[in-house]
Amino acid sequence: MPTETFEFQVEARRLLQMMIHSIYSNKDVFLRELVSNASDALDKLRLEALRDDTLGADVSDLHIGLETDPEARTLTVRDNGIGMSRDEVVALIGTIANSGTADFLKQLKDTDKGDANGTGADGLIGQFGVGFYSSFMVADEVTLLTRRAGETEGTRWTSSGEGTYTVETVPDAPQGTSIVLRLKPEDAEDQLHDYTSPWKLREIVKRYSDFITWPIRMVPPSKDAEDGAEDGEESAAPEAAPEPETLNSMKALWARSRDEVSDDEYHELYKHISHDWTDPLETIRLQAEGTFEYQALLFIPARAPQDLFMRDYKRGIQLYVKRVFIMDDCEELMPPYLRFVKGVVDAQDLSLNVSREILQQDRQIQLMHRRLAKKVLATVKDLQAAEDGTRYATFWREFGRVVKEGLLSDMENRETILGVSSFATTHEAEDGKEQLTTLAQYVERMKDGQEHIFYLTGESRQAIENSPHMEAFRARGIEVLLLTDPVDEVWVDTAPEFAGKQFRSVAKGEVDLGTAEEREEARAEREKKQEEYADLLTWMTERLGEHVKDVRLSSRLTVSPACVVSDTDDVTPALENLYRAMGQ
Ligand code: ADP
Ligand code: MG
Repeated sequence: MPTETFEFQVEARRLLQMMIHSIYSNKDVFLRELVSNASDALDKLRLEALRDDTLGADVSDLHIGLETDPEARTLTVRDNGIGMSRDEVVALIGTIANSGTADFLKQLKDTDKGDANGTGADGLIGQFGVGFYSSFMVADEVTLLTRRAGETEGTRWTSSGEGTYTVETVPDAPQGTSIVLRLKPEDAEDQLHDYTSPWKLREIVKRYSDFITWPIRMVPPSKDAEDGAEDGEESAAPEAAPEPETLNSMKALWARSRDEVSDDEYHELYKHISHDWTDPLETIRLQAEGTFEYQALLFIPARAPQDLFMRDYKRGIQLYVKRVFIMDDCEELMPPYLRFVKGVVDAQDLSLNVSREILQQDRQIQLMHRRLAKKVLATVKDLQAAEDGTRYATFWREFGRVVKEGLLSDMENRETILGVSSFATTHEAEDGKEQLTTLAQYVERMKDGQEHIFYLTGESRQAIENSPHMEAFRARGIEVLLLTDPVDEVWVDTAPEFAGKQFRSVAKGEVDLGTAEEREEARAEREKKQEEYADLLTWMTERLGEHVKDVRLSSRLTVSPACVVSDTDDVTPALENLYRAMGQ
């Protein structure tokens, strides 16, 4: 096939412009991205070879190679992994395929700081992985040569990042992918950005990619290119090929003891598996010993991804078996309401050939799932109990809506989930500001004789506060929870209890406020009035016809003349809306 020239997608072009103009000051991360891709490609090949013994790929020495040529000022990142077909190259490299990048562009649009050369995006770009394109932060031309395992022909992709790229078929390419970066001349004199320096590469790999489970080997420049600047290194005879040096320790972080691993190392692993560029909010470790041994290293991100509520959101737990990567997105290990948790679970006693079908039926996996869920909830509880509440506040702001889905699906942990939840409330903080409350705090403030946890659901805090249903409660100073998430409608409807107190909507049925005596008095009063106004009420009931079930006198209003009330078992208006929105 002849050389073809393609145009980048519009979004891709925009992103590339930002890379070329290097608005992000920490350029070193390009290497992390390329190494991360190479590592994924090796994982994929090993797995595919395991499942398909006709693949005909060489898996005897899977590794990542780094090669420099200081003279020509190039850096090559090589892997002998799965590679890409010609179509894959066009689909994956020519478009914005990865979700991190899509998120980034969306955010950029939202904040409207999106001028191509703008510095406004600098902060933003630091939070998102932009993958392969980050090569253009350091290179003015990138050439990718790849051959997919099992195929005979390879593909060469070349671009300077300016609008177009070319693709050509190459008859004999080695298995896997090599990426040659022609480094920007302006960095040549800059020690900090000399990516042909072995010292520099060592440093970057150590910092960002030490835990990568494949060897990252640096092939030193051949002798005449560099004069062996490293002191104390045993230098071979001039003609011998230089010995490659493995730069990473390859130690699985989850298998190392806590005090051996720095927070930074954990964070880099998190970034590798989550494709997030921001440090996680919390790192969770778990070592299970005994008949079914496994190690888990889980992370709670600091931000909810944009697609958390999309149907095809991918859960972030990777399954390893005895250090061998088996699958991404292992749904069987984490309940849907904790789907934002990222991490690695490494099980000792599973087969490398384990499939999703097997996982779904495996009792040990079910036990693991329960234990991991409990561990995450316990961690949230700790965050909540911590002196400094800001991390818990962040957690709840980002993930509270998702966690509350567990009130519908995880009966075993319902009380715990209620315990770690926070709600908007009519109770004001001492400084008069709006605040969130836990249920424990609510219960502690309950008035003498108050038997229920009162709440009202609605679309917004303001809508709820303006509801006539609130009047009697406000007048009596009784605290009401203000529930505005769609999911609130559903779980409160399942009549949960917290600390033995039932939830009760202020919009449903009879409200019993005050002490038993007061209530008795009020009831008598109401009956008397009901008789007095019997004619009026009958007339109104008839006039309103099928729109209402009944017209009653009310003790719940202090200002408004009338309000609509549901029976205790009826769906609320907001729930009706939710069902309607879901097409039911
Ligand atoms: P991401 O890694 O987040 O998917 P990238 O921009 O880093 O995004 O890469 C885009 C895609 O290109 C990858 O998902 C992968 O399918 C493919 N790719 C990139 N590098 C390699 C490689 N070395 N070997 C095989 N495929 C690769
Ligand atoms: Mg990547």
